[in-house]
Amino acid sequence: MKIQSVRGMNDVLPADSSAWQHVHAVAAQVFAAYGYGELRLPVVERTELFKRAVGEVTDVVEKEMYSFEDRGGERLSLRPELTAGVIRAGIEHGILFNQQQRIWCTGPVFRYERPQAGRYRQFHQLDVEAFGIATPDADVEIIAIAAQLWKRLGMSGFQLQINTLGTLPSRAAHRAALIDYLVQHEAALDEDARRRLHANPLRVLDSKVPATQAIVEGAPSLLDYLDEASIAHFDAVKAGLEALGIAYVINPRLVRGLDYYTHTVFEWVTDQLGAQGTVCAGGRYDGLVEQLGGPKTTGVGFGLGIERLILLMAVQQVPVVSNQPQVYLCRFGTEAERVALQLSETLRDQLPGLRLVLNAGGGSLKSQLKRADGCGARLALIIGDDEAAAGAVQVKSLRGEGEAFTCARTELAAELSRRLAL
Ligand code: ATP
Ligand code: MG
Repeated sequence: MKIQSVRGMNDVLPADSSAWQHVHAVAAQVFAAYGYGELRLPVVERTELFKRAVGEVTDVVEKEMYSFEDRGGERLSLRPELTAGVIRAGIEHGILFNQQQRIWCTGPVFRYERPQAGRYRQFHQLDVEAFGIATPDADVEIIAIAAQLWKRLGMSGFQLQINTLGTLPSRAAHRAALIDYLVQHEAALDEDARRRLHANPLRVLDSKVPATQAIVEGAPSLLDYLDEASIAHFDAVKAGLEALGIAYVINPRLVRGLDYYTHTVFEWVTDQLGAQGTVCAGGRYDGLVEQLGGPKTTGVGFGLGIERLILLMAVQQVPVVSNQPQVYLCRFGTEAERVALQLSETLRDQLPGLRLVLNAGGGSLKSQLKRADGCGARLALIIGDDEAAAGAVQVKSLRGEGEAFTCARTELAAELSRRLAL
């Protein structure tokens, strides 16, 4: 029997990996531009971490985690998100106490969901977090980082939705009113919503079940329960976005379900990806570090789904830095083979940006040129024993960019550098 990949877990083939490399390179550059440092984390953590960080009464923990016992009897899980691990590591290494900490992180995360376009069981996130800054300027910075990323990737058409969950007292007042309202409509709610109604009523607002969504339409809005501090924080976030010219809409239904989320929540959404339209989601979680046993430290951040971003880049046909070969070096004859071997290394030494394939496995000129064409190269270089003896190389365009010509080997690096803009 053929062994196939696990459902919902995808391979990225070499022809498609340019976009991934491009996203990673641009993202790393953007995050560094704001002074964020990369944290690299294990994929596996203790299950308890996610129960506490994501919350026991959530889809992720109740239904979606890949959890197992290892051979030593430890309860472990494949991470379903990155923030929990970032905070775990931050506490463990003592880098969150009494200091500002700007961190980013990336890698695969795992959720046992129903696979469909834009929704997978292994997917990848980019995660950005700012700890120890309680003021709204950190919220603005986090949102601006995503906006900068769209700009540098050449993407458009996002809508930024924002909302505020307010301070803890504001939330408590809203929570009581929300539970009252939901209890009145209990019969019409789906089973998950009924179960979560008392433990985690905000999550009900987040429901994707149509019947429950209909009830949620009439639910009391958090915006009506905000105290002065909540309003001031939200106003400052809005003012910061306006100062940067970042357009937003307020979506009062936007929530993150858990008690330690406060103040700003936001999503970058697109209507170009069908049902899976949220590419990036985040907010402020001032209680989370404490909840995980750390010092009282504020946090604000976002998680971005790389697969959805790459799907959207394809829809918008944004140009991607290619990692395809630019040059294919054909060679015939014993002496030419040796000269070409040395030349290929010399060119790579001289032109670090050059992507050159040296023909291997012999073959006729015709078959070598076919390989050259197939690998996507723009130029073929040809060395037979005549060229080898004359210190020359034939340069042939594979994409109709001018006539073939002969170039001195000593001139070749300069010629390639000019033609390929290296
Ligand atoms: P959704 O409402 O789409 O399920 P979520 O609220 O569960 O999203 P988060 O936990 O906020 O998502 O994760 C951050 C981002 O990761 C999402 O905005 C989305 O872009 C991406 N994402 C979430 N789940 C998946 C998945 N199963 N497959 C691919 N990308 C995903
Ligand atoms: Mg989800």
